[in-house]
Amino acid sequence: MGQTSLLLERLGALIQQSVRDDAARHGLLPIHVQVLHYLTRANRYSDLPIAIAEYFGITRGTVSQTLAVLERKGLLTKESDSRHGKRLHLQLTPAGESVLRESWVERVEQALCGPAIEAAELESALSHLLSAMQRVNGQRAFGICRQCAHFLTEESGARCGLTHEPLATEQTIRICREWTEASSDCV
Ligand code: SF4
Repeated sequence: MGQTSLLLERLGALIQQSVRDDAARHGLLPIHVQVLHYLTRANRYSDLPIAIAEYFGITRGTVSQTLAVLERKGLLTKESDSRHGKRLHLQLTPAGESVLRESWVERVEQALCGPAIEAAELESALSHLLSAMQRVNGQRAFGICRQCAHFLTEESGARCGLTHEPLATEQTIRICREWTEASSDCV
């Protein structure tokens, strides 16, 4: 057996520790920081409580409690969907964004800039591994929009082939709960 599983376990443990440290600095729990980070990456079909439950594999009750804390602390707001009345989109406030500054994500990005690391190759290998494990676990893939089988490029711009709605450019680089594999890339 190779060392890949051991390396992934060590990396996972280090990242979990970093998330705990980040959260403690702001008087939060790790799941609070993780949800804030998720929302900075989620598209408009995925910045919803149900998508958070799916992404983290947690109950809707836990999501409700988490969102209540974040809202009470002024770190996120809820906004009604203009077309789907009951749907609430979640957005970070400036205070929520400041929690994520100098977070574990930045430290990982700095480490990836090291001379011995081929970041693109590593990303591709990890994407394939994650995709395979999500299939085994029966979880949604949450891939990047422009890599989705439903993603359409038209003269007027990008469009979602599933919902038939136009996609703003900034939405096309975000992750989506409706993502369907076209290539095998996912996050
Ligand atoms: S194209 Fe795919 S990933 Fe993008 S919004 Fe539509 S379903 Fe989601």
